[in-house]
Amino acid sequence: MINTLTPSEFPNPDEIEPLDFLVVAPHPDDAELGMGGTIMRMIDQGMRVGVLDLTSGEPTPYGSMETRIRETAAATSVMKLTWRGNAGLVNRGLENTLEARERIASYVRCLRPRWLFAPYYHDAHPDHIAATALTEAARFHAKLSKTDMPGPRHHPERLYYYFCIHLRLAVEPAWIVDITEQWERKMEAVRAFDSQMVTGRPTAPPTLLDRIRHEGEHWGRIINRRYGEPFATKEPLALNSLRDLI
Ligand SMILES: [Zn+2]
Repeated sequence: MINTLTPSEFPNPDEIEPLDFLVVAPHPDDAELGMGGTIMRMIDQGMRVGVLDLTSGEPTPYGSMETRIRETAAATSVMKLTWRGNAGLVNRGLENTLEARERIASYVRCLRPRWLFAPYYHDAHPDHIAATALTEAARFHAKLSKTDMPGPRHHPERLYYYFCIHLRLAVEPAWIVDITEQWERKMEAVRAFDSQMVTGRPTAPPTLLDRIRHEGEHWGRIINRRYGEPFATKEPLALNSLRDLI
C-alpha cells in the first residue's frame, strides 16, 4: 500500500485488481470526514476501495508534513483501504489544469475503478471546487486513446459526490447510507487527524468532533437509523433492485 504524502507512483495495472470505487479527496481527511463510514461499510461487504488524496493538505495552522503523514497512515489503517495514494498537487493551489487532469486520469486508468466519488460541487474552499472539476474532467480524460498516459483506457461508469463542505448549506442529498455499524470506526479515522480536528480548536462544547457526530446523527435520523452519510448525484441513480432500500 502506498501511504505517504509525496507523489505516488502510478500502480501497475497488471499487478493490481480493479477497484470497485475510488474516492478523490482534495486533502487527506476529506474522504474520512465526507464518507469514511460508507468506505468502511463497503470494505466490510468485500468491496475494493481506494482513496486518492490530491495534495498533502499542508501547510495548516497546527499540522506539519510529518504529523500529516503519520495521521494519514493511522486513518488508512483504521479504514483498511485497498489502496491510498497522493497525487502530489499543490495544497491551496489546486487548479483544473490539463497537467493535473492527466495526472488524476492516469491513476484512474491504472486503478480502473467502477465508480468515482468527488467532493460536492458547491463549496467555499477553492481546492474543493477544483478537485470536483478535476475529477469530472479526469473521468472523461481517462478514456482517451492515443495518449502518453499510463494504463489502459478506462471510463468509470458513475460519478457521485460526497459532502465535506465549507459552507453552511441546507443540502438535499440524493441518498443517505446507514453507517451506524461503522460510526465508531469513522470517528477513530477522523480523530487520527488530531492536528486538524483537536489541536488548537475550542474545547467548549460543541467541539468540532461533537459537530461531526451531530451531523452523522442528523442524517441518520432522516433515514430512521442512528448515523448516516449523505451523497449527491447529477445523473439519476440506476438500481439493480429495490431490495436494499430502507
Ligand atoms: Zn479539504
